[in-house]
Amino acid sequence: MDDNENRKSVCIIGAGLSGLTCGMRLARAGFTVTVVEELASPGGLLAYTRIGREYLELTPHHLRKNDKALLALIKEMGVEDKISWFDSTWQGRASHRKVGYFEGGFSCLISSLSQEITDHGGRICFSTTVAEISRLGNGGYRTACVLPNSTRFVIDSTYVIFTGSCRTFINVSHGLPIAMDDRDTMMNVTYSAKISAFMVLKHENSQMFYQQMTAGTDIPFDRIINHTSCFGQRGYGGSVVYLVGSCQVTDPIWIESDADIMLKFFAAYRKLYRSIRKTDVKSWRVTKIRYAQTEHYPEIDLTNPCENLYVCSAGLAKFNSAETPENRMELTVSLASRICSMITAKEEMVKNESVPVTEVTSLTPELTDYSRS
Ligand SMILES: Cc1cc2nc3c(=O)[nH]c(=O)nc-3n(C[C@H](O)[C@H](O)[C@H](O)COP(=O)(O)OP(=O)(O)OC[C@H]3O[C@@H](n4cnc5c(N)ncnc54)[C@H](O)[C@@H]3O)c2cc1C
Repeated sequence: MDDNENRKSVCIIGAGLSGLTCGMRLARAGFTVTVVEELASPGGLLAYTRIGREYLELTPHHLRKNDKALLALIKEMGVEDKISWFDSTWQGRASHRKVGYFEGGFSCLISSLSQEITDHGGRICFSTTVAEISRLGNGGYRTACVLPNSTRFVIDSTYVIFTGSCRTFINVSHGLPIAMDDRDTMMNVTYSAKISAFMVLKHENSQMFYQQMTAGTDIPFDRIINHTSCFGQRGYGGSVVYLVGSCQVTDPIWIESDADIMLKFFAAYRKLYRSIRKTDVKSWRVTKIRYAQTEHYPEIDLTNPCENLYVCSAGLAKFNSAETPENRMELTVSLASRICSMITAKEEMVKNESVPVTEVTSLTPELTDYSRS
């Protein structure tokens, strides 16, 4: 492999929507892409599971007509024909907004992005946690990774894109030359956690798609999303209801077992829908999301804190205060595309200006055995 090939390697941390979008774009642009994901499967906040004959997101997601960048990405990936648009009722009233959902769920977008990366020679390493990003003498980066069995290895690359939370970025980047003020600003990006539970019920309980709970009640979730009342029962084998609550990780509920949380959620749900019995619940699943929603985000652009290193984190994507802060896919896809444009433009500039290539002999995209180095 010649130096020019080596210059174009990128290590992307996170296989959520941002990481996979970056991976797809850069793999298509000829970069050697390695995506590292600490979970065992792709999707991040859009992770899904199989329910009956369908895939279903662990947390409720839908599309909006004004998600322009996201819809353009979906079109680019050839899965727009799988979207249907539905009328919905929010808080008991018919909404003027249609909501979109895929045949087969968001899994079709996630798997087509993953496929595109691997089809272009990239790879996705699952169950691999990034512990540290450090700078190499030649200007490249070394990403230290840990496997569940504690085996360590490193990935050397020219570019790094980090897509996890700002907090995690600060933890893994302490050796990098990032201005103290920028570190402090990123540390001040605060997050609330969420607990999302879905139940597959024998019967549909409500035709209301979205129901917000009144603040100050003792109900442990703040919204109910009747997924199937809007998108149909598909192959789930029942109706799907999501109960989503916000919390802080210091709240006692955060460390409760999934079964205890489900009991609490179900008891509160039963107060609202008295006819429901435990035997009506065919299956359920609780998901805890540590960095679910940004509560405070920086006013300055911190997406490129070091040369050739980018942070593509929802926490840095500014949102319009009129929007529900959760509707962030549009912003994360836009940010991912912006970062990829910056990287490809930089490579183009280097090529056109024939800037002498740095000595990059150690910038191998191959996995290096860290434990023996
Ligand atoms: C309950 C809920 C409902 C939502 N509904 C909607 C909706 O309807 N519409 C909408 O537009 N948006 C919605 N959102 C927001 C949307 O989910 C996010 O904007 C989007 O999925 C963010 O994708 P991402 O790739 O930036 O981040 P993530 O999905 O968080 O991906 C980051 C990935 O990085 C990995 N990672 C982190 N640290 C490391 C490490 N050290 N090593 C290796 N891997 C690491 C994580 O495991 C994760 O997979 C919702 C969010 C929540 C919480």
